[in-house]
Amino acid sequence: MQTSIPTRLLLNPDIAEADDILRACVHCGFCTATCPTYQILGSELDGPRGRIYLIKEMLETGQATSKTLLHLDRCLTCRSCETTCPSGVRYGRLVEIGRKIAEERSPRPFTAKLVRSAMLTVLPYTARISAAMTLARIFRPLLPAQLRKKLPARKNIAVIRATSHPRRMLVLEGCIQPITAPETNSAATRVLDKLGISLVSAQGAVCCGALNQHLSDSDGTRDMMRRNIDAWWPHVEDGVEAIVMTASGCGLMVKDYVGALKDEADYADKASRISALTRDLSEVVTDELLKQENRDTFAHIGHGVRVACQSSCTLQHGQKLGGVVEKILLRCGYELTPVADSHLCCGAAGTYTLLQPELSAQLLQNKLAALNAGKPEVIATANIGCQMHLASENRLPVKHWIELLDPK
Ligand code: SF4
Ligand code: SF4
Repeated sequence: MQTSIPTRLLLNPDIAEADDILRACVHCGFCTATCPTYQILGSELDGPRGRIYLIKEMLETGQATSKTLLHLDRCLTCRSCETTCPSGVRYGRLVEIGRKIAEERSPRPFTAKLVRSAMLTVLPYTARISAAMTLARIFRPLLPAQLRKKLPARKNIAVIRATSHPRRMLVLEGCIQPITAPETNSAATRVLDKLGISLVSAQGAVCCGALNQHLSDSDGTRDMMRRNIDAWWPHVEDGVEAIVMTASGCGLMVKDYVGALKDEADYADKASRISALTRDLSEVVTDELLKQENRDTFAHIGHGVRVACQSSCTLQHGQKLGGVVEKILLRCGYELTPVADSHLCCGAAGTYTLLQPELSAQLLQNKLAALNAGKPEVIATANIGCQMHLASENRLPVKHWIELLDPK
């Protein structure tokens, strides 16, 4: 695609990067067919190619309107379009830049800013979300029905119990997972213990930064990144083998610390090392199960139980690890039920469920219909956001897949 962005604007590194990405697009439109918002709304501007044109126009003219922001906001950043694109267009990065610039040129109304600011103040912090949920439970009868359904049951905050194998890996506890699904990291600790690996957590680690990124808060995102690097670095120097992510959304984020901090002299090298050490839990378990001594460790734990696997977008499109969890579960004796349109997002998408409730609800209904069609006994996922979203409307248990390997 040819672009004509004014030369003076190209001095901005974000705009120069966006220009490079735009030029890779040959506007073939293959991506449109696999875009969940295009499938629901049927409008070109609610598909990737339309959004690419909107960003191009905004950068060339220097102008954005509320319409530009509307269509960019409706994007889930699921990156299904990236998986489909034959030209390797880095759409996820492009829309991140596009949103930031669109917000600068077409400021949001006061109330929208207030809502986003409240979300930024609460959501990335475990103690604050926990307090907000306690309050919400007290006033539950007064909440709108949609919010009431989304309020998870109270659980005790997870504490990682240290084991003492010579092999050690760091784990990110995350912001919301410790209070809504503490069983995930507990199960990961026990499974890796059985495989001869100790999981340790770092004091001072915070949210991975994804929630700030979803809300176009680039300064806050980088602040979270630096804080995590500072918390993890002593463990890295002490020789941890890997930094394990039990939520695929966080894994995608941390694997990108290298790109986000590449221009910061104090952090670029450390970020590069951190990203290189970061692995999704499914990558770690796959490697360990391939070892001769572990071949039979979980071989029959599944007993043919029927599982519908929800492949989270951050795992399949972001980290390109589609099918990895499914292979682990098959190997462990589970039966997988067929799931149609597994490339499509469930509608959770970070803060999307709160900011775009109608589209999010429609995507959820479609996803649950696809997951339940094969009559599974349990639904497995790799990401806390998807797990909470699916569980809010589903009668079957929705678990992190590692719980299905947990010897307890
Ligand atoms: S598939 Fe790729 S090259 Fe084709 S329109 Fe979409 S982003 Fe552009
Ligand atoms: S990221 Fe997802 S919702 Fe956004 S344009 Fe691409 S496919 Fe569509």
